[in-house]
Amino acid sequence: MLKGIAASPGIAIGRAFVWDSEDYTITKHKIDEKDIPIEIARFEEALIKTRSEILEIQKKISKEMGVEHAEIFNAHLMVLEDRTLLEEVISKIKKEKANVEHSFFETLKKYADIFSKMDDEYLRERLVDVQDVSKRVIRNLLGEKKEELAELKEKIIIIATNLSPSDTALIQKEKVVGFATDMGGRTSHTVILARSLEIPAVVGLKSVTTEVKNGDIVIIDGSQGVIIINPNKQVISRYLREKRKFKIFEKNLSRLKSLPAVTEDGRTVVVAANIEFPEELASVLSHGAQGIGLYRTEYMYLNRTDIPTEEEHFQAYKKVALSMKKDPVVIRTMDIGGDKFVSHLDIPNEMNPLMGRRAIRFCLARPDIFKTQLRGILRASVYGNLKIMYPMISGLDELRQANKLLEEAKLELKKKKISFDKNIEVGIMIEVPSAGIIADILAKEVSFFSIGTNDLIQYSLAVDRINEKIAYLYEPAHPAVMRFIKSIIDAGHSAGIWVGMCGEMASEPVFALILLGLGLDEFSASAVSVPEIKKVIRSVSYKEARSIANKVLELDTATKIEQYGRAKLKELLIGKK
Ligand code: PEP
Ligand code: MG
Repeated sequence: MLKGIAASPGIAIGRAFVWDSEDYTITKHKIDEKDIPIEIARFEEALIKTRSEILEIQKKISKEMGVEHAEIFNAHLMVLEDRTLLEEVISKIKKEKANVEHSFFETLKKYADIFSKMDDEYLRERLVDVQDVSKRVIRNLLGEKKEELAELKEKIIIIATNLSPSDTALIQKEKVVGFATDMGGRTSHTVILARSLEIPAVVGLKSVTTEVKNGDIVIIDGSQGVIIINPNKQVISRYLREKRKFKIFEKNLSRLKSLPAVTEDGRTVVVAANIEFPEELASVLSHGAQGIGLYRTEYMYLNRTDIPTEEEHFQAYKKVALSMKKDPVVIRTMDIGGDKFVSHLDIPNEMNPLMGRRAIRFCLARPDIFKTQLRGILRASVYGNLKIMYPMISGLDELRQANKLLEEAKLELKKKKISFDKNIEVGIMIEVPSAGIIADILAKEVSFFSIGTNDLIQYSLAVDRINEKIAYLYEPAHPAVMRFIKSIIDAGHSAGIWVGMCGEMASEPVFALILLGLGLDEFSASAVSVPEIKKVIRSVSYKEARSIANKVLELDTATKIEQYGRAKLKELLIGKK
C-alpha cells in the first residue's frame, strides 16, 4: 500500500499501464547496425512532419495576422533545412549507433551552446528558434507515446511520474479508470481535470512508478489517497463494496441537484461549476450547477500545433451559452503558462513558470492572440448570459490595458456590423496577492471578483501548488488565507459587487461552510462537488455560519481552524438529509 494525496474521489480497480510522459527526457540507447536505416528514416519522417506543421501554422498566421507575422517561422524552416546540422545528426547515428532522439538532441545542444555565446544579438536570438524547432522534432519523434495514450484499447489505470494537463486532456474516460502519479499536488491542473472527468486519482506518491509494474492489479482509492498493489481477493471484495457505497453516496447527493442553494434562514447563493471543455456540460447539468463560474479556455490551445481561430472560440462559447440558457457563464480568458504549457506559442522556458509570463501577462504581450479570443467571446455573448473574466490580474494598469483591448475588439466587430452583448460584464480573478490587497481599488472598475485560491494560496504562502514535497504546507485553512479571503469579500461588498470563488477550496464542505459565513456569494468547483456544496449550504442558517466564520478568524493555526470547522460541520449534518 502506498499513501499519497487524495486527488480525485472514487475507487478504481484495474490493470496498471506504466506510462512515462516525460517528453523531453531523452535517453541514449544502442541500436543494431541493421537498424541504422530505420533510425534515419524515422528522423526524416519527423523532419517532414515538423516542416508541414510549420507551413500549416504559417498559412494560418498569414491569413489571420498578416504575412509579416508568418515570416517569423522562416527561421524555423531554415533550421530544418540546415544540411550541416542534419548530416551531423545522421553521422552521429551511424558512428555511435545511438538512437535518433539522442543523436538529434546532443547535436542541437551543441548548436544551442554556440548560438548562446555569439556576440551578434540577432544570431543570439535565433537560439529560441533552434530550441523551438528542436522541441517540435523531438515531439514528433516521441509522438507515438502520446498516440498510445489517446488510443488505449482496454480499461487501465495509468501509473506515471507525472501527467501534464495536456496529457490528461488526451485521456479517454472509457479507457482510463484511474491514475496514480509520483508527483503533483491537490490543486495541480492535472488533478482538477481528473475531478472534472470523474476519474479517481492519487498523486504525490513519490515512488509509484518504481513500485508498480506493467500489468499489476492496482486499486486506487482517490477519496483516501491510497493505492494498493496486487491486492488479494478479500481486499478486492472490500474495495468493490466501498465502490458501491461511493456510488450510493453520490446518488443520494444527486437528489439535491434541482434544489436551490439557500440557507435555513433564506440567504441564497449561487453554486456553479468549473469546466475545461464544452464536453463537460452534460455533467454540469446533471449535477445541478446553477451556472459556469469558471471556463478554463486555455485547454483549447493544448494538444495542437496552431492557435484557435476566432470562429473556433465563437463556436465553443456559443455551445456553452446555449446549454446554460439564462444561467451565468464566466469565460476566463486564456491562462496559458505555468503548468499548462503550449510549446508552439512563444513561451520561453522560465525558471519560475508559475510566476512567469502566463495568463493576462502573455495576452497583453500578444494582443493579436488575445483579441481573437475576445472577439469569439463577444460574438457568442448574444446566445446566453456570458461574462468575461481576466486571470492573474496584479494591478489596475493591467486591468485597464485588458479593457482597452476589449474595447478595440468591440469596435472591430461593430465595424463589421456583428452583434454582441454591449453590456457584457467584466470581472477579474483575485489570485495574485497584490490584487487581493488592493481589492478595494480594483472593485471600482469591475463587475465581480472570483477568488482563485489555487493560486492565491500558493503565492500567499509561497508554496508551489504542484510540488508534492511541500504539499503539507499548502494549507487553505491557514489563518492568513482566512483573513485574506475575508478582506477580499468585504472589499467587493463595500463596492457593491458580488464575490465568488472558483478555486478548489470552494468545493471542500468544511471550507464551504466557513466561506458561506464569510459572506461569499458564489461557489464554483468541479461539477461533481456541486451537490455536496449545496447540502452544506442548506444545512445551516446564515446567522450560524457567520458566527462559525467569526470564531474561525480568532483561531491561530490551520489545524485548529480545520478541526473546529469539521466538528461544526459534523454537528450540522448529523440527522439532516
Ligand atoms: C485558481 O487559481 O484558483 C484558479 C481557479 O485558476 P487555475 O486553477 O486555473 O489556476
Ligand atoms: Mg489560477
